[in-house]
Amino acid sequence: MTATGTRVLVLNSGSSSVKYQLLDMHDTQSEGGSAAGRLAVGLVERIGEETSRLTHTPLATGGDKRETEGPIADHEAALKAVAAELSADGLGLDSPQLAAIGHRVVHGGLKFTEPTLIDDAVLQEIERLVPVAPLHNPANITGIRTARALRPDLPQVAVFDTAFHTTMPEYTARYAIDVETADAHRIRRYGFHGTSHAYVSRKTAALLGKDPSEVNVIVLHLGNGASASAVAGGRCVDTSMGLTPLEGLVMGTRSGDIDPAVTFHLKRVAGMSADEIDTLLNKKSGLIGLCGDNDMREIRRRIDEGDERAALAFDIYIHRLKKYIGAYSAVLGRVDAVAFTAGVGENAAPVREAAVAGLEEMGMAVDASLNAVRSDEPRLISPEYARVAVAVVPTDEELEIAQQTYALVSA
Ligand code: AMP
Repeated sequence: MTATGTRVLVLNSGSSSVKYQLLDMHDTQSEGGSAAGRLAVGLVERIGEETSRLTHTPLATGGDKRETEGPIADHEAALKAVAAELSADGLGLDSPQLAAIGHRVVHGGLKFTEPTLIDDAVLQEIERLVPVAPLHNPANITGIRTARALRPDLPQVAVFDTAFHTTMPEYTARYAIDVETADAHRIRRYGFHGTSHAYVSRKTAALLGKDPSEVNVIVLHLGNGASASAVAGGRCVDTSMGLTPLEGLVMGTRSGDIDPAVTFHLKRVAGMSADEIDTLLNKKSGLIGLCGDNDMREIRRRIDEGDERAALAFDIYIHRLKKYIGAYSAVLGRVDAVAFTAGVGENAAPVREAAVAGLEEMGMAVDASLNAVRSDEPRLISPEYARVAVAVVPTDEELEIAQQTYALVSA
């Protein structure tokens, strides 16, 4: 298939939100800087409520950010509103320059190992995965259906959060539980944030002046959701999230790793239902459960004021992170770089400092003045003598989705 246009609209549809970016792939490839090729970015929030809000920034025209408040009933209305905003800037969805729409899809199971052109059969397969991703795939599916209805003639591509992790060996992906039960219910470790881990591990190799095939990288994606991955020669060999995004690191509102018997205990002793336990572990645990705040800025502010609960939450967060750095060092055997990314990883210098503190014997260290630099560019924060490069590498999931989408439709 050969696309005539060079623009890609990236859609990230959540249960009550749609994030979008319109990119010109010609410019993302030819220019530098993080804003290169970005024509418009925006967000529709609180879909289905009276107080829905659309925030749209027309970067192409240099116009100001526009905010519209008022009820937006569903995803269809949301996407129509986005289309109207884009049209107002001369960037409408009917433009022949639009080559494709790229959709973020959270769960691709084992089948989808690559970006995939969406047709009815693909959509059915994504629906078949709803039982293993009940919180995410339904919203992604709604986004796809709506976009297909708006532009039935346009190639639409699904880019899966799980795809990068499908290279994990069977002994990493399989839980040590009864094989028949696991297989009957497709229970295994899939991993998430794959688009980010793929992008950041590649960028880290570039920062070191190497090809991805030459380096082993531990990627720490620390946002409100957080995950670590071990990437050997460009291929993911382990990642901290599992069947769902609940496993692994301490996150903003998720517990991460926990003795599974805690859930039986909550059911039998505390009398909680499966849904209540799900909510507790996904929405009321992690940093917010530990100290009442999930924003690392606020937690650091409280620590500076001597707040002990915030300090303990921080220590628990860091301890888990350190355990994963150690575990993935052992998994990889040789580590060339540790890369911090996402909201916390890119911005919270104290987190980077604390996570690497005491790991000098493993060749890892952080230089205080390099760590204090604020920048949107990938950069090293380790001292020259350190054997392992420690880096801050801003993630860009939208660009990665757009690039994968465009590569598929222009091939
Ligand atoms: P993300 O999910 O990648 O958007 O990351 C969101 C999280 O990043 C927020 O909940 C904060 O904890 C964290 N964050 C964002 N900006 C900063 C900052 N300047 N300093 C520390 N943490 C930050």
